[in-house]
Amino acid sequence: MSYIRAVRPDTPRFDPLELARKTEELVCRWSDGHCLRKYTDFYVVGVYQGIATGYVVGCNLRCVFCWSDYSRDYPELYGEYYSPEDVVRMLRSLCRDENVERARISGGEPTLCQDHLLQVLELVEKTPEIKTFLLETNGILIGSDEAYARKLSQFRKLVVRVSIKASTETKFERITGAQGKFLELQFRAIRNLLKHGVETYVAAMTDPRLMTPEERRLLFEKIAEIDPALAQVLEEERVDPYETTIHRLTLAELDLEF
Ligand code: SF4
Repeated sequence: MSYIRAVRPDTPRFDPLELARKTEELVCRWSDGHCLRKYTDFYVVGVYQGIATGYVVGCNLRCVFCWSDYSRDYPELYGEYYSPEDVVRMLRSLCRDENVERARISGGEPTLCQDHLLQVLELVEKTPEIKTFLLETNGILIGSDEAYARKLSQFRKLVVRVSIKASTETKFERITGAQGKFLELQFRAIRNLLKHGVETYVAAMTDPRLMTPEERRLLFEKIAEIDPALAQVLEEERVDPYETTIHRLTLAELDLEF
C-alpha cells in the first residue's frame, strides 16, 4: 500500500489497521529497550481547565475535519523521537511550571506504538505532578485488540475519551477515508474498555453540517445500547475552521460554510 495522505472523494477506502502499522513504521522506533515516538511539540492548552499536551505525530484515520497539522499526512517529514522518559519529563515540567494537574498526548492517534504509550502511562503513575492522564483516541486499535484494553486497565490515573466519527458505515467512509466496516471497531473499543473497568467517556462529531438528525439519533441509540449513562454525557463535537481543516475539507470537496 502506498502511504495515504489527505483523502479526496475518489481516494480508495483504506484499512485503518494496515495504515496504523504503516504509520508506526514512520513514527516509532526502539532504542535501548525503550519504544520512542515522534512528537512535534509540548505545551499547555486551556481546554480541560489547562492540560499539559504532547503533540504526537501520526494517525490511522484521515478525518476530513481534522485540525492536526500536516504531520498527520506527512509523518516522515515532521517531529523528533522522544523516549517515554523524555515525554513524561516534559509533561511533568509543564504541569509543575504552569500549575496544571492533567496531561495528554494529542494531535495524532496516541494508541499507535502501543509499547510507547504503555511505558508513558507506567511513568505517569509514578509522577505526582500528573493527577490525570487523558487518552483521546479514535479507538480503532483498542476495538481490534481486547488485550490492549486489559493492559490499559492497570493505570489508575487514566481516563479514556473515545471519539466516534460517524454512525453509519457510508458516512464513516466519507468522513475518515477508511473502509466502512471498521466503524464497528470504534464501538467495540468502548465495550472493551468498559469490560475491563477503564474509566471511559464518549465524544462524537455530530456537527449538523456533517451528520443528519437521523444519523445523530442512530448514534445516540448505539451508544445507549452499550451504556445508557454514556449517551447521557456524550460530548458533541463541532468542526472549527483551522487552516488544516479547511484544506482537508476542500480536498474532500465538502463546503461547510464557516
Ligand atoms: S481527527 Fe483524530 S482520528 Fe481523525 S485524523 Fe485527526 S487525529 Fe486522526
